[in-house]
Amino acid sequence: MICLGIESTAHTFGVGIVKDKKVLANVKDSYTTNSGGIIPVNAAEHHIEICDKVISGALSKAKIKLKDVDLISFSQGPGIGHCLRIGAMIARVLSLKLKKPIIGVNHCIAHLEIGKLLTKAKNPVLLYASGANTQIIAFEGGKYRIFGETLDSGVGNFLDAFARHIGLGFPGGPKLDKLSKEGKNFIELPYVVKGMDVSFGGILTNLKQKFNSRRYTNADLAYSMQETVFAMLLEVSERAMFHCNKKELLLGGGVACNTRLQEMAKKMCRENCSKCFILENQFNVDNGAMIAWLGLKEYKDGKRQNIKNTEIKPYWRTDEV
Ligand code: AMP
Ligand code: MG
Repeated sequence: MICLGIESTAHTFGVGIVKDKKVLANVKDSYTTNSGGIIPVNAAEHHIEICDKVISGALSKAKIKLKDVDLISFSQGPGIGHCLRIGAMIARVLSLKLKKPIIGVNHCIAHLEIGKLLTKAKNPVLLYASGANTQIIAFEGGKYRIFGETLDSGVGNFLDAFARHIGLGFPGGPKLDKLSKEGKNFIELPYVVKGMDVSFGGILTNLKQKFNSRRYTNADLAYSMQETVFAMLLEVSERAMFHCNKKELLLGGGVACNTRLQEMAKKMCRENCSKCFILENQFNVDNGAMIAWLGLKEYKDGKRQNIKNTEIKPYWRTDEV
């Protein structure tokens, strides 16, 4: 069975094609800026402009024709309404045109499930660190549960906001990753873990004040910021692993591409005799393959949907699935 999955929750329009347990294609095009962040209408406009190219690119990569597709899946939420609507609309059109079933999936769970498919992880705790989302997710008692999460912005949005403040464009995370390697001095920053949750708003304000004071180099700020917020994320992930008695940690989301976060996660797992699973970057960032895979999995598990219940769910939580 072949599933074509469409991802469009935010900056990325991605199309993945999965046949049984094999990813045949994972093509995407992402909206970027030279300065400033994501403007929803512009991101949606970007998706409309490139959707044709991305869909045909994925089909040719997979060496199949549209008529070979058996199932259409799409990210139904959570995400930016303007962007979600484009993916949902294209999925509906394809489903009606091809007379094939349609499945809307939860984007956060797709990150976890693609990780399980592509690594040997069996029942991991997922540190899902992306632009808009930051959650510690695990499957317990028959459903996905959130063991800790951000109380304000996602860690990626936080990185991007600081990058914007110091004059870097969107996405800022990869630029800060590079810049942090030149940092030499650790500058103490607020460390904000509240129970199992984290918060970045106060740290961002503090960083901006430090940057504005001109007493610190950008490299030292980037380095200290990464050390601090990644330690926060791993502290709560570690506690979730102990609480659930799980010996596997999976990283997911765009921030999981960060080399320092990967290094720290591996170290924490080593110290706890646990395994750390890290995906190729193309499966960490938002991608269509994970949507295709979860659509296929849910379809095979018996989920059925019709066009009428494919309305987008911008605030759909992981623990509501
Ligand atoms: P996603 O929404 O999952 O596609 O992730 C996008 C987020 O990942 C953006 O906020 C990026 O700044 C961030 N990101 C991508 N690569 C890196 C990196 N190497 N280091 C830190 N953040 C990154
Ligand atoms: Mg994501």
